[in-house]
Amino acid sequence: MTPFTYARAQDAQTAIQLAGAAPAARYLGGGTNLVDLMRETIETPDALVDVTGLSQAIEARDDGSILIGAAVKNTALAAHRAVRQHFPLLSRAILAGASGQIRNMATVGGNILQRTRCLYFYDDAARCNKRSPGAGCDAREGFNRMNAILGASDACSATHPSDMCVALAALDATLHLAGAEGTRRIKLVELHRLPDDQPDIETILRPHELITAVELPALPFAARSTYRKVRDRASYAFALVSAAAALDVAADGTIRDVRLALGGVAPKPWRAFKAEAMLRGAPATAAAFRTAAEAELAEAVGLSGNSFKIELAKRVITATLTELAGGVA
Ligand SMILES: Cc1cc2nc3c(=O)[nH]c(=O)nc-3n(C[C@H](O)[C@H](O)[C@H](O)COP(=O)(O)OP(=O)(O)OC[C@H]3O[C@@H](n4cnc5c(N)ncnc54)[C@H](O)[C@@H]3O)c2cc1C
Repeated sequence: MTPFTYARAQDAQTAIQLAGAAPAARYLGGGTNLVDLMRETIETPDALVDVTGLSQAIEARDDGSILIGAAVKNTALAAHRAVRQHFPLLSRAILAGASGQIRNMATVGGNILQRTRCLYFYDDAARCNKRSPGAGCDAREGFNRMNAILGASDACSATHPSDMCVALAALDATLHLAGAEGTRRIKLVELHRLPDDQPDIETILRPHELITAVELPALPFAARSTYRKVRDRASYAFALVSAAAALDVAADGTIRDVRLALGGVAPKPWRAFKAEAMLRGAPATAAAFRTAAEAELAEAVGLSGNSFKIELAKRVITATLTELAGGVA
């Protein structure tokens, strides 16, 4: 392991100053991803700025929105009464991830910025354009069962592994950011980049920009929402395909509004904008859900070992929305 300094910040300004003083500083949340990457020398920071002293508050406001501090632990967020009542898809997504012990350590900020689980990213004997730009990609012809079918490029098909982020994408969450140039807000769905020919650049964050909070706008119909995760083991496994969805159906069976995002299929949490647009005003039937799923996956491309995920994703979408519509999934 490369030597590094350690400092703990109690507020955003101090964290930004500390990080700015070291060329390769990294913020440290629960460390459940970053420390593993440091052990493998995939990440080699010269300074760790511990940001677990930042806000751990979850503020449920009267207007139905919720403000979540970046240092809130995954366990606390999943268990919060307002989240379980008004945004059950978020509780379910978090609880579908990792293990109890990891969720007790993992923070909201760290979960959003966790790195991919592509096997070749972790294997320094393999070629990986994300780890070593220009090196090539051994996933293309290798063991790519977990890799992306949407938004990938020749250079990289690594997926974003977070379950929580899939729910945040469906909920149109806003991130509060702070950095040397001041504060700003962006949508979670804008944070992660598609790889194109630069898979090493994963987000639109500026150097040492800090996530300080996540804001969920009010969405009354999200009280009827869920998260479905298909994986190789019943627990402690990343998603092959997952879906976070909320559905608002009028008395006549027409869809008033819908939110849908997919996990395990793309280099970023994938908001299914095409499917959503097709479904607004359509009947809440399995046939309509399947048609929308076909449209969302129309541009999906399989690799040597993951083409099955295209049909799987269509079935996960159809089953998840059918369940929310009150049918048998
Ligand atoms: C065995 C195992 C199984 C897992 N299974 C799943 C799973 O099924 N689903 C799932 O979603 N996840 C899973 N995870 C991943 C886990 O959810 C993440 O490791 C965790 O959420 C990361 O949070 P952290 O606070 O520990 O982040 P850290 O490891 O501390 O940090 C991760 C990254 O975020 C950056 N960072 C941290 N906080 C901030 C901030 N406030 N602002 C800017 N940057 C910041 C760090 O610099 C680092 O780059 C698994 C992990 C393990 C080890």
